[in-house]
Amino acid sequence: MCGIVGIIGQEDVAERLLDGLKRLEYRGYDSAGIATVDGDTIERRRASGKLSNLAKVLDAEPLPGAVGIAHTRWATHGGPTTNNAHPHATNEVAVVHNGIIENFKPLREALISRGRVFTSETDTEVVAHLISERLEAGADPIDAVRDVLPQLRGAFALAILFRSQPDLLIGARLGSPLVVGVGEGETYLGSDALALASLTQRVIYLEEGDWVVCKRDGIQVYDQANQPVERAITQSGVDRAVISKGNHRHYMIKEIYEQPIVVAQTLRSYLQRMDETLTLPIPDFDLSEIKRVTIVACGTSYYAGMVARYWFEQFARVPVDLDVASEFRYRAPVIEPGGLAGSVAKIVKLEHAWRRLDGRNDDGFQVAPFPG
Ligand code: GLU
Repeated sequence: MCGIVGIIGQEDVAERLLDGLKRLEYRGYDSAGIATVDGDTIERRRASGKLSNLAKVLDAEPLPGAVGIAHTRWATHGGPTTNNAHPHATNEVAVVHNGIIENFKPLREALISRGRVFTSETDTEVVAHLISERLEAGADPIDAVRDVLPQLRGAFALAILFRSQPDLLIGARLGSPLVVGVGEGETYLGSDALALASLTQRVIYLEEGDWVVCKRDGIQVYDQANQPVERAITQSGVDRAVISKGNHRHYMIKEIYEQPIVVAQTLRSYLQRMDETLTLPIPDFDLSEIKRVTIVACGTSYYAGMVARYWFEQFARVPVDLDVASEFRYRAPVIEPGGLAGSVAKIVKLEHAWRRLDGRNDDGFQVAPFPG
């Protein structure tokens, strides 16, 4: 799952879109691209590999336009090539997508049988064609998106741009996060608040199944049943330091060195200073009753889950199952009553952090990671 940034701005947006993508570099990606509406046409610039490649393409062929969408891709369907890089577009519409459209194959076959010509191997391109078909049949953009969303199965965060309406972006989310940023006479979409950190601190976290119509001067959120809903504007409070690489060579090394601090900061919020105990946010059930633990995680978090497995088995003497999240959803796992399941987010090299914290025991700072 990679990054999305969208801007409806007052002036050319390509530079700020690229800057937003740079803030998402920490998530990893294999290619990137930007689309804008310039005059009466949708224009795209895409490149495989690092964002510096996209920057070079943009230098050679600048991209005007005050409304745009941008993406860093982590390929799931189709190789990490320039042609498969997002945005995917027709003459009428451009789309960026995080996630997987599980039913893309029958949708693609049906679209091809109706004469649509595909130019990439991605699952995403079906979304551009489905919306385009509606637009070409005379629907307005909002109706077109509303008709197409229920046809999509899987997990997606989408940002969509329209040739005919350069004051409009539509976003939608199901299973993948998407936030809306509220600016002064500008509106933004981002796959997380970090992407929008330099644009605005005022963000709306969309809920499952929400879709949003963004204009320069305001937004309207709809829920999955297409009812207009109010979602609160919150202060993201994202600190620029969190998203810069600092003096580190790359994000992984930064994360490794940050772990002692991150774990300490997290634990500090549960530390009762007076009696030097930790009150962890564990729901109201008896941990000693737990018969089995299931951990679901991806990538580096999977390795963190392996460390957790060693610890649970060593300290709590409870058997642990560990699954790669992307595969877990296709299994019919046998999960008995009395088990505990959890997913691991980005917890890299937790054992390294643990040793550092453990070293602070001299200060009387005791950490009990798992019930023994
Ligand atoms: N499934 C899409 C693709 O392969 C999106 C991948 C992503 O989340 O970056 O292009």
